[in-house]
Amino acid sequence: MYRRESIEAKRIARDRIENLFEMAEKLTKEGETDLSRRYISLARRIGMKVDISIGHRMEYCRKCNTYMLPTRTCRVRLSRGRKVIVCLACGNTSRFPYGKSRKGGD
Ligand SMILES: [Zn+2]
Repeated sequence: MYRRESIEAKRIARDRIENLFEMAEKLTKEGETDLSRRYISLARRIGMKVDISIGHRMEYCRKCNTYMLPTRTCRVRLSRGRKVIVCLACGNTSRFPYGKSRKGGD
């Protein structure tokens, strides 16, 4: 029973996180980067609470929570199978796996 509730809580949390990121993307495209950052920081907090890692699929600056929108809020370059993203807001560099998302082993 307890476990089932916890899975349900995670599912709900994941939906909320995805919605928040969708909104953050939209806001960033509209130039509302401050509000967008607030959505991302909220999404991160929800993820932490239910122990979901959101970093693998969602692209945002780990340092200032800016949504990473190429040419608008970040610069992208590829390096050794990884996408290196430089945040234009704070200069922080983030690395993401590039291409097919594989789970485990590299
Ligand atoms: Zn940043």
